[in-house]
Amino acid sequence: MSKIIDGKKISLKIKDELKMEVEKLKVKPKLVVISVGDNPASKVYVGQKEKAANYIGIDYLHEHYDSISDDNLVKEIEKFNKDKSVDGIIVQLPLPDGMDEKRIVNTISCDKDVDGLTYLNAGLLINNRETLASCTPKGIMKLLEHEKVKIEGTNAVVVGRSILVGKPIANLLLNANATVTVCHSKTKDLAKITKKADILIAAIGKKHFITRDMVRHGSVVIDVGINRVDGKLYGDVDYDNVYDKVAKITPVPGGVGPMTVVMLMENVLLAYKNHHK
Ligand code: NAP
Repeated sequence: MSKIIDGKKISLKIKDELKMEVEKLKVKPKLVVISVGDNPASKVYVGQKEKAANYIGIDYLHEHYDSISDDNLVKEIEKFNKDKSVDGIIVQLPLPDGMDEKRIVNTISCDKDVDGLTYLNAGLLINNRETLASCTPKGIMKLLEHEKVKIEGTNAVVVGRSILVGKPIANLLLNANATVTVCHSKTKDLAKITKKADILIAAIGKKHFITRDMVRHGSVVIDVGINRVDGKLYGDVDYDNVYDKVAKITPVPGGVGPMTVVMLMENVLLAYKNHHK
């Protein structure tokens, strides 16, 4: 088996499996993506979601607003919450400055919250209950599973504690019986901790922050970072210099990124199945 965890290849396989499943359905699952403003990265991510939905056969509706008040956006979401033809709703983040992201995201019905970001779904994850889990962490778990990486009993270190990535992946690893350490910007002696990791997850948002001296020989390194510098994408891990030291590693691009979109589609299908029970 290759040392490089090929997220692109794995995601394509899952995408084809989802497509085959959706082809058999009489009524198609439906995803609504809501975006506000003109964030260039968001435009790229929304485009990727549309492409994946179209490929799989998921009905896709993109509602875009140049600007909208919090109250009106809440009303729009409530409309989709009530619409029985809609299985999944996501609000593309970040919202423009000044909007109340927490209020808006938590307006989404938890059974349609395919990004897994509502308080309820996050709480279910902590309690190790079935839920629509946040897509990037779910994608990381799929990659580890695909590569047959043993999780139980290992030391897993997560660098980053965001609601989107760090906290949910720490909980998923804990649910899978790893011993998890979560690090952040106030952590002292970070390298001392990361060097003990059997599984190291880097979700920081700083180009090549994890250097060769910070990783353990034979560890599995998952690089979540997407850092755009001069039009090029870089991970949080100094891939070239870390590569020969580790057992497995995800590249950037082509590692975690492609899994995130496919896990969103998997969540839409999951929500659909729950709605059609
Ligand atoms: P975020 O909300 O900015 O969180 C970054 C985390 O890194 C914070 O917890 C922060 O600590 C920690 N951190 C910052 N500087 C640090 C330092 N010097 N030492 C240790 N920890 C440090 O970012 P995010 O949303 O989690 O995203 C992280 C990266 O993943 C970004 O590059 C993002 O673009 C990428 N991402 C990729 C995908 C994908 O699909 N591949 C999905 C989501 C995000 P504090 O909490 O103390 O500030």
